[in-house]
Amino acid sequence: AKKTGGNKVTIYSEKLSQSSIERPRLEAHLRKAIENEKIEVFYQPKINLKSGTIFGAEALVRWTDAEFGFVPPDVFIPIAEDTGLIQPLWELVMKLACSQVSKWNAARPQPLSISVNFSARQFQEPVLMLQKVKEILAESQLLPKNLEIEITESILLSNSSEIVQALESLKDIGIAVSIDDFGTGYSSLSYLKDLPINTLKIDKSFIQNINENHENAEIPEAIINLARSLHLDVIAEGVEEEYQKDFLLSKNCVQMQGYLFSKPLSKEEFEKLFI
Ligand code: C2E
Ligand code: CA
Ligand code: CA
Ligand code: CA
Repeated sequence: AKKTGGNKVTIYSEKLSQSSIERPRLEAHLRKAIENEKIEVFYQPKINLKSGTIFGAEALVRWTDAEFGFVPPDVFIPIAEDTGLIQPLWELVMKLACSQVSKWNAARPQPLSISVNFSARQFQEPVLMLQKVKEILAESQLLPKNLEIEITESILLSNSSEIVQALESLKDIGIAVSIDDFGTGYSSLSYLKDLPINTLKIDKSFIQNINENHENAEIPEAIINLARSLHLDVIAEGVEEEYQKDFLLSKNCVQMQGYLFSKPLSKEEFEKLFI
């Protein structure tokens, strides 16, 4: 176990992620959990330091199994992606998150935007994906402009016309697209200019390298400048320390997410604090 030392659940989870023997059982439990909607969505606030407001939240899936205990998304998302379960899981997360935020927005003067993580799998059947997105927006009565999708660079790497078309269609509906973990892919930057993308999300590994003296900040600074010259929004994730926040502010990157402001919260906690 990495951080928690003697924590049983964590040790078990690490074993799980490696064990090919446990995987089929974990998969079976996950399938059941999705079927029975025994999956939760947590919400992590996205802050704009300039306006001092929470303008949105990222939806992060949570699963606690009766037998396996808490299973981190880094363990079960790859399994879901390998087995096709990512499709029903994605639908469930979309449904839960969109309807929840739509409810919250009815009680707020300023609407929140909800960011949902999309896997590559969603883009393998873009027509189906778009149809589902429209369906869920209609059912939840969430305005499309209050939905953002987060995708990783790897999805853009394939550079297929189908994916570009899917992104264009999302944009046409009014949905925003953010590139997650930006800077960790080894991609050519040329796609950024031509694709309908709204935001670069600086990967937390780069933010966490920034120290008290604002050293090791070349990459975040370069990404902030890149975003600016391409007229894209930029947000930093994994902001844990005041000095990281201060550095970002000094470079005029005002959108942030991280433990410094809030951990991902259950819907009850989020509601109590922010709605
Ligand atoms: P991600 O999309 O890069 O999400 C950010 C992760 O960083 C989350 O971990 C979040 O809890 C964590 N985090 C937030 N602030 C901080 C901070 O200040 N410091 C540190 N060290 N970490 C912070 P989480 O919730 O465990 O999710 C891990 C990954 O699992 C996500 O990375 C995403 O790739 C995937 N994931 C989570 N929910 C979903 C989902 O609904 N669908 C899909 N396809 N993937 C998901
Ligand atoms: Ca994300
Ligand atoms: Ca990320
Ligand atoms: Ca990630």
